[in-house]
Order: sequence, then structure tokens, then C-alpha cells
Amino acid sequence: MSDPPKPTSQFYKDLRALDQAMSDRWMRATNDNPSRALSYDEMVDIVWSSWSTENGIRTPIFGDIRFTEKQAKAIALLMTKIDGDPKYKFVAAMRKADVSGMFFDDTAYADGLKLVREVVGTSVGRINWRSPGSQFLYIPMHYAAVIELMNEGKISAFEKQDGGLGEWLNKGSFSDEKNALKIVRTQSDAVRRNTIVHELTHAIQDWYDLNIINLYAETDALICGAVSDRVVGRQSDQGAIFDAAYAAAEFVYLKKAVRENARWMAAYKAVGEELKKLDPNWSVSMGFDDAVGKRKGASESDMIKAALRKVTGAANAGARSGSAASAGSRK
Ligand SMILES: [Zn+2]
Repeated sequence: MSDPPKPTSQFYKDLRALDQAMSDRWMRATNDNPSRALSYDEMVDIVWSSWSTENGIRTPIFGDIRFTEKQAKAIALLMTKIDGDPKYKFVAAMRKADVSGMFFDDTAYADGLKLVREVVGTSVGRINWRSPGSQFLYIPMHYAAVIELMNEGKISAFEKQDGGLGEWLNKGSFSDEKNALKIVRTQSDAVRRNTIVHELTHAIQDWYDLNIINLYAETDALICGAVSDRVVGRQSDQGAIFDAAYAAAEFVYLKKAVRENARWMAAYKAVGEELKKLDPNWSVSMGFDDAVGKRKGASESDMIKAALRKVTGAANAGARSGSAASAGSRK
């Protein structure tokens, strides 16, 4: 019996130095051929190698895997071997895994509460509008109430590293299962501020148990995030979706986001149209129970309402005593 041929490509060696298991699975999938493009299924097999089949549809199981930053580098290397639709699909799966906490192990995290508090103190004052999609009325005190829930330890906030995966991971995320808000450290202050307001908006939607489709949840979060751009007068991020959100946010910022204003209603709808271009299934496959309002009893909404009463009471007391307590300035 002779041994199987030893893999010799430089790609294999580079990958192996980062993660042995991934390099072995890559070698078996490609026969050590670095010029072969990977399919989506192969990429999932190589990176985390487990699937479930539900209603005839295979989906990757995220399980309890926690990638290290070294493994993130291995994934970044593998990303050079996948392209087009398979790559798009894989990035979407990674982002979903990211929300569920797959990236990274705990060493990648630092406390993010101070940062979140600063952003709420400076960037949400103009958020006071009723969404034509979700029908929810967003007010600055909702953000202060989330900070209160963070102070009480009911929601956690982290800054995280991106492990070199950069744009392929979420700039931020809010896990409604873990009640954890995570913000990637390596981005500009303006993008980070927008991202924090965006994710806090998802936290509000979740804790109020809003029964809404994800299209409205995301449109609302994008617009609230863009209001923080309006505060400094400059769009923080590029792309058609951010253009549309920034345009809609002007109406909110100028207090012209009212049902009677046809231009506003069109601007709101335009954000959703851009989202649908990215993924036509925003209202279907990524329904609200994926992101917000899922399987939560009334207890979460009771708790955020109690937090709201507390911060509103503190703000009123501050106003009465002339010390002008503002959202987020509480210690
Ligand atoms: Zn979002």
C-alpha cells in the first residue's frame, strides 16, 4: 500500500498554518487544486461542516462553534476561492452566524457600554417619528430605556474585533436571543455611530415585542441610524441603501415625517425598495420572528416600559430642578 499523494500547493500550506481542519477539508474538496472555484456547499463544508435538512432545505448549523481570529484569517483566505452568487450566499450565512455569536471567541470582545452611552447622549435627540411601515412611534427616551436595561444587566453591549473579515461580517448586530449588542471596533466614528443607533433600534423593536415584518424592522433601523448622520450633516456610509436612508432621515430630522407628506411617504418606501433589490425575500424568508419579537413573553415589554418610566421620571425630575438631564447622560 502506498500513501496518498502529499498536498503541495502553497495555498494548502498557508491555509494549514491557520487552521488544520479547514485545510484538510479544502484539500479533500479540491484535490489540492487552488485554481478551482468553490461552491457554496463546499465552502460551508470546509468552514464549519455541518448541515441540517428542514422541509427539504439544507441549512448550515451554526451550533456552538466559536471561531478564533486565526480561523477568521483562514476563512478570509478561503474567500479568495469563491465568487459570484455562491460568495454572496456564503457571506449572508456568515452574517447570520455572526449574529448568533459564531465570530468570535470571548477574547475578541471588550465592554461597549461607554461607547453606546455616548452615542445615545449625542445622536438620538431628533428621533421622534411614527413609522408608516411598523406603525411604531420611535422617541429618544426609548434609547435611554435601552441604556437603562443595559445598566440593569438585562442587555449587554460589546465592542468586537473583526478578525480581518471586515465587510463580510456585520458592522454591528443585536441578538434577540442573547440580548447582546455587538459593534465592530474597526470602523470610522461616523459609521460606528450610525451602526449603534441602528442596532439599538432593533433592540427597541425586540423588547417592545413588535409584531412586524423584517422589511419594516430594517427600514426603520436604517432611517434611525441615518438620523445620526443628519445630526452631523454628513452621510457616513456609501451605497444605494444608505443613500435612500439618508434621504428619508432628512424628513425625520426636520420633523416633516408625517403621513400627510407624500414626499416623506415615498422616501420611506424607497428604502424598502432598495432592501428588496438586495434580497427580494425581506418580507418572507427573513420574517419578523427571525429578528424581532420572537418567542418572547410579555415580560420584555413590561421591563422596557418600566425602564422607560424610570428614565422619563429622571428626566422630568432633572427638568424640574433645572439640571436638564438628557438621554444617556445618566451615570
Ligand atoms: Zn438591521
